[in-house]
Amino acid sequence: MNHHVTVLEIDGKALEHNLEYFKQKLHQETKILAVVKAFGYGSDGVQIAKFLEKKVAYFAVAYTHEGVALREAGIQTPILVLHPQIPNLELMLSYCLEPNLYHFKIANAFLKIAKENSLSDYPIHLKFNTGLNRLGFSESDIPEVLAFFKNTKQLKIQSLFSHLAVSEDLEEQKFTENQIGLFTHIVEEFKKHLDYTPIFHLLNTSGVLNYPRAQFDMVRIGIGLYGFGNDPIETKQLKNTHNLKSIISQIHSIELGQTVGYNRAFVAKKKTLVATIPIGHADGISRKLGNQKGNVLIQNQKAKIIGNVCMDMIMVDVTKIECTEGDEVTVFNSQQMIQEIADIATTIPYETLTGISQRVHKIFKQ
Ligand SMILES: *Cc1c(COP(=O)(O)O)cnc(C)c1O
Repeated sequence: MNHHVTVLEIDGKALEHNLEYFKQKLHQETKILAVVKAFGYGSDGVQIAKFLEKKVAYFAVAYTHEGVALREAGIQTPILVLHPQIPNLELMLSYCLEPNLYHFKIANAFLKIAKENSLSDYPIHLKFNTGLNRLGFSESDIPEVLAFFKNTKQLKIQSLFSHLAVSEDLEEQKFTENQIGLFTHIVEEFKKHLDYTPIFHLLNTSGVLNYPRAQFDMVRIGIGLYGFGNDPIETKQLKNTHNLKSIISQIHSIELGQTVGYNRAFVAKKKTLVATIPIGHADGISRKLGNQKGNVLIQNQKAKIIGNVCMDMIMVDVTKIECTEGDEVTVFNSQQMIQEIADIATTIPYETLTGISQRVHKIFKQ
C-alpha cells in the first residue's frame, strides 16, 4: 500500500452542516443542486457525491469526464454537465449525463445524436446569458429556441438556467437586479409558450446568501458546501470541510550564514532549526507562500515557510517549536487559514481549494 503522508481530509459532518445551513435559508420546496466539479473543489468529487447523493436533487460538474467518473462510482442522481463539448455528447448518453445546451451549434449536434439513437424526452438543460457573457443563448434567441423545442420530441428541457456575474458584491446590486429581471422575463416566456414546466434556476452560493428571493425552483451550491460564504460573518456560520495535513520528514540545524533551499533564498541570521515537509507547489502550495510569507501549524504554533517553495517540499522554521521528525503538520484546517493562504497568494479560496493536486491523498471522514 502507498502510504501517503500528505493528506486532505474531507469532513463529512461539516459538509452536512453546510448543506443544512443553506437548506434553512431556502423555501422547503426549493431543490438543491450540489456543484461537485473540479474534484469537489479540490477534494474528492466521488466521495462527496456519494455522501450527498440522497440529500440533494441534482449534481453538476463542468466537463463530461467528471460526470463519467461519478457514474462509474455508482452515483445515480441526475447530473448536469455545465460545459459539455460537442465531441463528448455521444458519451453523455451512455452515462445518462444531462448536457447544458448553450448555443444552437451544440443543440443541433445533440439533437442529431438524439435522433440517431431514437431518444425521446432526453433531459437537457438550457443556459441563457444574462450578463456574465460566458456561455448561453441570448434573450433575442428565445423565439428560435422555443421553436426548436416545439418541434423536437427527442429532447426535453429539464431545466433552464443562468448564472450571476457578481452576486457576492452588494455594490453591484443594480447589475445583479438586472440579471434577475432578465432571467425572470426569460422564465415567463418559457412558461407561457411551453406545454410543460422546466426547473428554473439562477443562484450560486453567494446568490443564495444575497438574493434568496431569486431562488426560483433550484439553487446551485458549490463553495458554500465547502465552507465559504460571502464574508467572514457568513463563513463563520459554515464549517470547514477541507483539512490539509502532512508531517515533518526531517529537521536540520543550520548555523548563521547557511542557506535553505533553491537559489539559497533563505539565509540564516542565527542558528536555525529547519523542518522539511513533503508538500510543494505540485501539490497546490503556491510559490507566493515562500520566503516567510506563509506558514503552517506545528504543535499548534505557526512555523514560517522559509526559502522558495519547491515542487515537492517546503521548509519551515521550527527554531522556537518543540517538535520532532514525524510530527503532524497542519497546512490548513479552518476557513480562516485557507483565506489567509488565498490572500498571500493573491487569489481566492476557490483557487486555493481547487489547486490541491491529484497527488495529495484524499480521505473522506463521515
Ligand atoms: C461553479 C458554478 C456554480 C457554483 O458556484 P459557487 O459560487 O461555488 O456556489 C454554480 N453555477 C455555475 C454555472 C457554475 O459554473
